[in-house]
This record gives sequence, structure tokens and C-alpha cells, in this order.
Amino acid sequence: MTSAVPITPDMLTIPRKETGGLPNLVGMSRDGMREALIAVGTPEKQAKMRVGQIWQWIYHWGIREFDLMTNLSKDFRAMLAEQFVVAVPEIVTRQESADGTRKWLVRIAGGHEVEVVYIPETNRGTLCISSQVGCTLTCSFCHTGTQKLVRNLTSAEIIGQVLVARDELNEWPEQGAKNVEGRLLSNIVLMGMGEPLYNFENVRDAMKIAMDPDGIQLSRRRITLSTSGVVPEIARTAQEIGCQLAISFHGTTDEIRDKLVPINKRWPLADLLEALRAYPKVSNSERITFEYVMLDGINDTDADAHRLMRLIEGIPAKINLIPFNEWPGAPYKRSSNNRIRAFADIVHNAGYSSPVRRPRGEDIMAACGQLKSETKRDRKSRAQIAAETGS
Ligand code: SAH
Ligand code: SF4
Repeated sequence: MTSAVPITPDMLTIPRKETGGLPNLVGMSRDGMREALIAVGTPEKQAKMRVGQIWQWIYHWGIREFDLMTNLSKDFRAMLAEQFVVAVPEIVTRQESADGTRKWLVRIAGGHEVEVVYIPETNRGTLCISSQVGCTLTCSFCHTGTQKLVRNLTSAEIIGQVLVARDELNEWPEQGAKNVEGRLLSNIVLMGMGEPLYNFENVRDAMKIAMDPDGIQLSRRRITLSTSGVVPEIARTAQEIGCQLAISFHGTTDEIRDKLVPINKRWPLADLLEALRAYPKVSNSERITFEYVMLDGINDTDADAHRLMRLIEGIPAKINLIPFNEWPGAPYKRSSNNRIRAFADIVHNAGYSSPVRRPRGEDIMAACGQLKSETKRDRKSRAQIAAETGS
């Protein structure tokens, strides 16, 4: 379809119902795309080159119209248009916080919705993306944890969040995007909705695309995957993705971590720490980020801070203290600033970097742990969660 009107990002966002069930080129690995092209008659000898060309259009130039892929022959473009789509999630709403944080609600196949958050900072801009609709886990302080899992996102839907954010930020080369250093979207964190290690393959494939030097080009050091502690998948993350790792630690005894992060009952602290000790060597990454949510009277004493220091001894680490972000009906309160400072001092004096994460986008409910879509309103009640976590 050649369009007489200017092509805007919204027009290139093809709702799934209009894809006619055709496979989406977005989200395929290079090998997967090669096979898909061969399957529709592309000569094997040409397939690799075609993948390279299409890849650049989609991931370097941000082009989703086959007709604009001008280094491909007309016939080949027509064939692609008959066999494939280039589709990304559809933006449903846009919100911008007083502090510049932006939040998009995007719709994916099946009418489900997930949230994507962009956090501008002085020297970088971080996109917080989701890996699942809802979450199977029920961390008692997390808003997403009150929403049952609806489904895993596909690799197309995961990398698609990055593509639509670049649309929204006008950050494709023809719109003046700089090389990675000066880009608005310079970092990705898998800290939105869902547990990324319960959707391993799709997260891996999407992050491989984000790191590919011929496209989005974000180095593995600019990608951070946050997990609640799916121990068996941590080694795989090191081997197959190699990105930075953040761990939702939050508790310094099994008793308290069982309540806050119930997956701890399955893989307790000792198992988790063993996996974390091995991570930097295998992934060749610098430091693991320990995320620690500050909950008033629950996990925020000096004794907790000292215990935390003992537990992580020997692990190259950065401690990220997150003041609890409240949400309607939340069963906890944020620790006082004085308490957070005292905790941070102990961590700092032990020789660790201990930034306190400044809540961003609170006025639009975009802060860590506040995300929750209205997809399927079969949320769990507080009482149900309390029963499950024994809190
Ligand atoms: N499921 C993954 C990633 C998403 S959550 C994980 O649990 O790691 C991203 C971070 O926000 C995690 O450290 C999570 O524990 C934290 N978080 C969740 N709810 C929060 C809240 N209400 N306030 C502050 N941090 C929260
Ligand atoms: Fe899921 Fe992470 Fe929230 Fe726990 S903190 S419920 S793992 S999204």
C-alpha cells in the first residue's frame, strides 16, 4: 500500500486483528526470519542477505511499510506484503508526569494491555518494559502481583514496546536519532509487569534483537533484567543473554522474604545467593543490582542492613533502595526518609554504592511496582494474598 498521506507511527501500528493471521517479522530471530523467508520461496542463497536488508529497515530505520523498503525489488516487496506483517503493539493511552516520565498503555493481541514507562534522566533515558500480562507471582507489596497472569508476551510484543517508544520519542535516524551515547532511549530495564524469567525464550529473543549491532544497538550493559529469583534460569540468563542482572531481594531472612517474595519458599536465600555468586563470572558483567524495597517496620532496621551486608559479602554488588510506592489498598507503608538514610549509610559504609531510587512518575502511577492493567479484572483480593503469604 503506497500512502499519499504522511505516514505516522500510529498508522504503522497494525492491530493484530488486521494482520489476517500472517506471521509478524518483528520479534523473529535472524535465523527464524531466514527460515520464514525460505519457506515462502526466497532462494536459499539470497535469504541471509534479505534478512540483513529487512532487519535494517525494521530495526535501524524504524520502517514498517514494505513499500518503503526501497532496496528490495518490487516483486519481492509485494511477496512480503502477501506473506507477512510488520506489527507492533497499539498505543491506547499516553500520559506524561510532571517530572517528564511518560507512560503508555499498549494493546496486544487478544485485547490485553500492558504498560511501558520511559524515564528521562540527565545522561540517559530508560525504558521500562513488561514481559507478561499480569504475573503468576504474588509479591505482597507489588500491585502487578494482585493481577493474575493472563499470558506471556511474545518476543514481538516485548521488542515492540521498544519500537513504539522510539516512535513516540521521534528517535529513528531520519528523525535525528543520535548514536547510542546521545539517545533519548539509551537503556532498557525489564522491570515492568511480569516475571521475565518465567518467559525466558521470548525475553531472550527480544533482547538479542535490542542488542543486535545492525539495529537498535544497545549494548548488553545497557539492559537490565530484574527477577524475583527464578534460580534455575539465572545461569541461563548469564549464558544466553549476558545482560545486567537485578534481583528483587527485599528480605534478609527466609522468614521475611517468604512473605514478601513468595517464590523464596521454592528457592530460598541460600540457593539464590549461590546462583548470584556465579552470575558475574559467567556473564562477564560487573555488578549485580540488589533491589530492596523499603517497607516501614517490615524489613528496614539497622539489623536488616547489617544482615544484608553479610549475606552478599563477596558478590560485586550495587544496592538499590526503593522507597515503597503505595497503591490503592496496599498493605504496607513507605519507610521514613530518616530510616532510609540510616539504612543507606550502613550499606555505604560497608563499601557499596547505595543509591536511593527516586520515585518517578508517581502522579501517573508509573513508579516501580505500581503498574497494573485492567485486563481481566479477576484480581485477587487482599485477603487472598494475605492468606497465601501468611502476612
Ligand atoms: N518481576 C520482576 C520485575 C518487575 S518488578 C521482579 O520482581 O524483579 C521491578 C521492581 O520493582 C522489583 O524489584 C520489584 O520488587 C519492585 N517493586 C514491586 N512493587 C513495588 C512497590 N510497590 N514499590 C516499590 N518497588 C516495588
Ligand atoms: Fe511479579 Fe515482580 Fe511484582 Fe513479584 S514484584 S508480583 S515477581 S512483577
